Amino acid sequence: MFRIRTTIKSFLIVTFLLGGFTFYGINKTDDPFKSKRERMVRLQIEARGVFDKSVLSAMRIVPRHKFVPKNRTDEAYDDGPVPIGYGQTISQPFIVAYMTEIIQPKKKHKVLEIGTGSGYQAAILAEIVDSVFTIEIITELYNSSRETLDKLGYKNVSVKNADGYYGWEKYAPFDAIVVTAAAEFVPPPLIKQLKEGGKMIIPVGSPFLVQSLILVEKKGDKVTTKNLMPVRFVPFRRGE
Ligand code: SAH
Repeated sequence: MFRIRTTIKSFLIVTFLLGGFTFYGINKTDDPFKSKRERMVRLQIEARGVFDKSVLSAMRIVPRHKFVPKNRTDEAYDDGPVPIGYGQTISQPFIVAYMTEIIQPKKKHKVLEIGTGSGYQAAILAEIVDSVFTIEIITELYNSSRETLDKLGYKNVSVKNADGYYGWEKYAPFDAIVVTAAAEFVPPPLIKQLKEGGKMIIPVGSPFLVQSLILVEKKGDKVTTKNLMPVRFVPFRRGE
């Protein structure tokens, strides 16, 4: 009897201790990312002049380390792009924040993104607007970004595996369009699918060289463009 009681007692003690350690362990492992994210927002984004509250809040919430390959989680909050395989990259955090702020996203908006990549920019948009539509040309990246977005519960993001040159006619027109690969010119179907009063942000220029980040605005029949800053993006590809 004594023996059984002692065994039960030790079992309970060990369970309690293990439980405590696990609990402590979970908190400890999540912490570095939270504080890294906070530093990223303060030093890389706010410090460079992005002040939109909804953008800053989204950048604080979305776990960027879940959008980079597992062996690169340490680089997730660095001040630069990170390779995500297939010759592609997840953009630098500041660029993501800047492009999101420029289109002035509102809750009721429907936004189209070309170049899903890791799914990170789509997740940032999904924290702010009602619905996000995003197109990725590389099937493997389409599959993995969909999985990441599903796992994190982003139900307001629809992902399609196609050439984004043609946009997504079925859901057009869009309040805003974000293109995250460098095109040699603004694809006409995207201009067509932009709402009147809508904004599109797109890097334009020669692939592999420095390009210009351009803001395209549709006002009535007029389309205006504004050169914002030099950038370097992966090339906009074309489907067969
Ligand atoms: N927005 C991404 C960045 C991805 S890099 C992120 O947050 O991670 C650009 C992506 O655009 C690449 O994944 C590339 O495969 C994709 N891409 C290039 N040309 C494309 C096209 N014509 N249609 C759709 N996606 C394209």
